[in-house]
Amino acid sequence: MHYSKLCEIYEELEKNPSRLKKAEILSEFLKTIKHEKHREIIYLLQGRVWPDWEEKEFGISEQLTIKAISRATGKPEEEIVKKWKKIGDLGEVAAETFKNKSQHTLFSAKLTTTKVLENLQALPDLIGKGTVDKKIGLIAELLSSASPIEAKYIARTLLNDLRIGTGSGTIRDSIVWACFDKEDKEAFEKVQSAYDKVTDFALVFEKALKGKHELDKIEISPGQPLKVMLALKAEDIHDGFERTKNDKGETALEYKYDGFRMLINKDEKGNIKIFTRRLDEVTKQFPEVIEHVNKYVKADTFIIDSEAVGYDKKTKKYTTFQHISQRIKRKYDIDKLSEELPVEINVFDILYYNGKSAIDMPFEKRREILEKIIKTEKFKFRLAEQIITSDEKRAAKFYKQALSDKEEGIMFKNLASPYKPGARVGHMLKMKPADNEFDLVIVGAEYGTGKRAGWLTSFDVACRDKESGEFLDIGKVSTGLKEKSEEGTSYEDMTNLVKPLIKSEHGKSVKIKPKIVITVVFQEVQGSPSYNSHYALRFPRFTALRTDRDTEDIATIDEVKKLHEKEALKRTF
Ligand code: AMP
Repeated sequence: MHYSKLCEIYEELEKNPSRLKKAEILSEFLKTIKHEKHREIIYLLQGRVWPDWEEKEFGISEQLTIKAISRATGKPEEEIVKKWKKIGDLGEVAAETFKNKSQHTLFSAKLTTTKVLENLQALPDLIGKGTVDKKIGLIAELLSSASPIEAKYIARTLLNDLRIGTGSGTIRDSIVWACFDKEDKEAFEKVQSAYDKVTDFALVFEKALKGKHELDKIEISPGQPLKVMLALKAEDIHDGFERTKNDKGETALEYKYDGFRMLINKDEKGNIKIFTRRLDEVTKQFPEVIEHVNKYVKADTFIIDSEAVGYDKKTKKYTTFQHISQRIKRKYDIDKLSEELPVEINVFDILYYNGKSAIDMPFEKRREILEKIIKTEKFKFRLAEQIITSDEKRAAKFYKQALSDKEEGIMFKNLASPYKPGARVGHMLKMKPADNEFDLVIVGAEYGTGKRAGWLTSFDVACRDKESGEFLDIGKVSTGLKEKSEEGTSYEDMTNLVKPLIKSEHGKSVKIKPKIVITVVFQEVQGSPSYNSHYALRFPRFTALRTDRDTEDIATIDEVKKLHEKEALKRTF
């Protein structure tokens, strides 16, 4: 397909802010590409060149993009930077710069989606001497055959910011609408469930084109990242039982450990791979876990779901997530860090066992398998603490015991339920005491003054509107961060983390691409006219950098509203 055709769709999507309209435009477009190379088109529509689970990055900064634009147009870099400062979006800047480009490109070859994909896919693999120059070369090659609109979207794709609102919900709806009936609820569920198993919309679209039965054939397999099942909140013990009990009135209760989610995979060749809940592969970062898996799990192939919890070797006490969070991203001194900040694995589910998917089995059966194959040893590898009961008093005692054991709270699990990858369907519920806490994404920041000049010291945070995919401001966080930190969250660490994501600067304030998730505790939620969420957090305080979480995991505006209403209700009594 000619890239210009895809760009026409990008433009249409950008002009139509309604999510529904976007899905309609996309589905009409998908109907026309049935005989094209689907893969590349679906990826490019998402602003990517690989499936969602692929972690590769282009490694292209704004500066490099500017250099490439300059090389392709012959315009001086300073002129491009000037425009960028004024317009704020390098895509628009590219389009404008290309409008004034000399005419020789009229005779050059037309860009195809295949060519765009090829050049962009080659970027991360360039290493060694002269890498930067080679990268600029690949981009400039594309740009030199590009029209202004094509240049706009090449630049935006490179910077991972397509700005056309094609989030995963919109892509999913458009695939359903293109291949099935709009009202077909079953098709909608099948497409979503297939995606959650393979996190690759191109593959899902290929199967959907052939019919629902092909979607059913999509299976999970060890080594292939899949989305984890998510928990909803239980209001109290009674509510927890009501929503998860089986026909005997029983439910499974487990400790809720304070660490981070780990999906541990072993394939038929014996390869072990570990993924976080945002599908990042962290195998290399956790050598001790590989050792434990080999020693404490007796099965040929599997995918197990677990929580990795840090502990202090000297005091023999468990630590909080903040303490071990740096292990997730750390690429050097791994053995040293695994000695200093070891983790214990608490296994609570199994999704694949000896050559077969286990997700459709009831939880009770999956737990039986775990009990059979896992050998427990404290501070190494263990089964999650669990009781099965129909007695609310016994449950309350278990909850108390979890808290006195310094765990975060408890989980309620429906014994009869299957495992639903990627879903928050209420098969498991969480309950913990400190409810005034949200995971939020950083969307802006401000430079400090005096001793703190040069560092970003205050961060604008946002929640998410699930329907539109938009991020809505809800507060400014400056408390909780310090000048020095062992946990990789000093002002300097945060500044280094956030700086490459800066979209635009206005005086001391900067706008930031929404990528970094942090946990914020606060006293209460207030109504507020100053933020576009219409809510503000009172006394917000930073508590953790959630390197294991994505923007999809942050609090939604509905959750904010719900907490606000709950607090307002409490005040009336
Ligand atoms: P939250 O992060 O507050 O949404 O709580 C859900 C998270 O608790 C899961 O994603 C897991 O990482 C973690 N967790 C800790 N213990 C358990 C457990 N026994 N079962 C399931 N999830 C658990």
